[in-house]
Amino acid sequence: MTNQNKRVAIIGGGITGLAAAHKLELAKAEGISIEYDLFEKSDRLGGKIQTEYVNGFVIERGPDSYLARKQSMSRLAKAVGMEEELLANDTGQAYILKDDRLHPIPAGAVMGVPTEIQPFLTTKLFSPIGKLRAAGDFFISRTSSRDEDISLGHFFRHRLGDEVVDHLIEPLLSGIYAGDLNKLSLKATFPQFQQMEAKHGSLIKGMKASRAQQPKPIAEKPKGMFLTFRNGLQSFVQAIENHLDADSIHKEADITSIQKEDDQYRLQFANGESLLFDEVIITTPPHVTARLLSSYSYFHYLKEMEVTTVATVALGFKKEAVHNPYEGTGFVVSRKSKHTITACTWTHKKWRHSTPEGHALLRSYVGRAGDSAIVERSDEEIVEAVLHDLKQIMDINGDPEFYRVTRWKKAMPQYNVGHTYKMAKIKEDVMRNLPGLHLCGAGFEGVGLPDCIDQGEAAVSRILKG
Ligand code: FAD
Repeated sequence: MTNQNKRVAIIGGGITGLAAAHKLELAKAEGISIEYDLFEKSDRLGGKIQTEYVNGFVIERGPDSYLARKQSMSRLAKAVGMEEELLANDTGQAYILKDDRLHPIPAGAVMGVPTEIQPFLTTKLFSPIGKLRAAGDFFISRTSSRDEDISLGHFFRHRLGDEVVDHLIEPLLSGIYAGDLNKLSLKATFPQFQQMEAKHGSLIKGMKASRAQQPKPIAEKPKGMFLTFRNGLQSFVQAIENHLDADSIHKEADITSIQKEDDQYRLQFANGESLLFDEVIITTPPHVTARLLSSYSYFHYLKEMEVTTVATVALGFKKEAVHNPYEGTGFVVSRKSKHTITACTWTHKKWRHSTPEGHALLRSYVGRAGDSAIVERSDEEIVEAVLHDLKQIMDINGDPEFYRVTRWKKAMPQYNVGHTYKMAKIKEDVMRNLPGLHLCGAGFEGVGLPDCIDQGEAAVSRILKG
């Protein structure tokens, strides 16, 4: 079939679905004859992106920014007229919480891997034996063959030893996935580390070489690695929505199943209606996707995939209520510690636009892979646990002016060992048996907002190629 009169359905109005819709809108504007409909279960677009505005505060309840070097988000921002609204984070020291004390992350640590020797020698995060063990990276053999998938934990423990993993790498990296380093797949999350080991025989050498290739910053003050929007990520969602044909967007449209009928797919809705489409881009979370396609045998892995539950806790204070002896932007917490919080951003310092003059905003995380019971507790109990932890580090007088607890149940897909192979098998099965279906989004090939955009756009490119 040519693209002539092709009808495309997009299921899910998170950033993946929105990026797909925007690309289809551009194709229509170029005169390509293609129609699309986006179906979103809730009454709003954005999915995990949720910004709330409270008395001058800009509070991100889900994601708060994206990695600037992944350019698809900035490109989409430009396309929808939001380029001028982009802001980089204020840089500053970040810390690791270990034994009730904040330790500065040693300078030169890139995702926890040392690239400068001096700061590692002087940090109090590791014992002398731990430091010596990390230096073993220069001499020890390769962890695995290039084809083999192993866990991040296995890989880093072999190269740098337990102390560096437990007190630096684990808190930094698992923050991204809220995952268990001993289960997360090296191939699916950070394949570049495996390549570095193969090329340089040492992670430290590989990381140093890759840093040396990057252009040196010319700005006097280093720019932050992250970007967001002056009025929050939701303003970006709104700008994309404004560029879409309103007749193609259907909110409160709950899809319950997808069934192949000859060369088309029938979408069944919860209200009893059904519609036929030629191509379907499915951007729902993996377990939902598995349910929608439950009449097929290929999606067992999506149903079984581990998905972590977390909560974000935003606390707004009068500035004078918070006396923070540490200069910087926040900290992550070692899994070995006894604290409930897993990370905290001093949001008023990292993102100054988020907080009105004279106030402070602290955003913490609770819950992690295999340990998310706290998320089931009441808002008040969660806030109390967070405040208890924060008070051990900072001087906090009095109650917050307001708090927002946002529970993210089964929201963080875990790319555990074997993820890439299992996904490749699903792709192959779909291509062979269900052509015209396109599975994408955070559960598949990258959880970051730009990764999701890449996937939504790539699905449309495949459709346009016919
Ligand atoms: P979603 O946003 O989940 O969208 C899927 C949509 O499908 C939803 O709107 C849902 O309502 C809809 N849907 C579900 N079922 C149906 C159905 N049956 N019919 C129709 N529609 C349906 N990434 C970053 O880059 N930076 C960050 O700072 C960051 N922080 C994060 C913090 C938290 C707390 C979380 C949870 C994630 C964070 N992420 C971050 C990851 C990122 O936010 C997500 O990976 C991304 O937003 C997922 O987008 P998506 O479109 O794939 O899925």
